[in-house]
Amino acid sequence: MKHSELRREVCLLNRRIVDSGLSMLTWGNASIVDRASGCFGIKPSGVAYDDLTEDSIVVLSIETGDKIEGPLRPSSDTPTHLELYRSIPGLGAIVHTHSPWATIWAQARMEIPCFGTTHADHFFGPIPVTREMHPDEIRNDYEHNTGRVIIEKFSSDGINPLEVPAVLVASHGPFVWGKNGNEALDNAVVLEQVAKMALQTGRLNPDAGPLSEALLSKHFLRKHGKSAYYGQPDEQ
Ligand SMILES: [Zn+2]
Repeated sequence: MKHSELRREVCLLNRRIVDSGLSMLTWGNASIVDRASGCFGIKPSGVAYDDLTEDSIVVLSIETGDKIEGPLRPSSDTPTHLELYRSIPGLGAIVHTHSPWATIWAQARMEIPCFGTTHADHFFGPIPVTREMHPDEIRNDYEHNTGRVIIEKFSSDGINPLEVPAVLVASHGPFVWGKNGNEALDNAVVLEQVAKMALQTGRLNPDAGPLSEALLSKHFLRKHGKSAYYGQPDEQ
């Protein structure tokens, strides 16, 4: 993919975060990786979504983390995106927002239980929450360490990040991803809705438990993986 094409896609994806109602002002950021050319494009730091242009998108190397193209400084969260791209080979795009309902769970430092099929259609289990970071992890290389605690959570709990493509960073907010920009944004939109519904479900019935394993597997696996049969074949 040409850098100009990557910058256009990253610009569109960032604008769609606002159009979807997930962010305001300069909150959040999105990036897309081009594995073939070993680089990714990300929103510039501190630029309002309305002022975003293709030319303002910053392109960086996955290998070195150095800037390849773009006049502006990349998002301050760039080291978090870099860590995720390096650690999860199948990941194609990342959307980070402070969307309110998901952020409420992140601030409560509680995972979002999988109460129903809306959740299970996109996430194969609860949405995990990272551990709190140590003061030295916050003072030094904070954004890189944010990526590290995300990876630590998935590996310590044996969660496949391609099956649960979202995480709540404790006291911060959600990072969501997908195979490409469209999928990452869809997952971020769904996450916000399931965060809202889960909170109300727990209020309505404090004894509500997660949906059954059979229902979770049925709904996730009919849309994802080798045996998926929901929708139309990719070729059509
Ligand atoms: Zn943030």
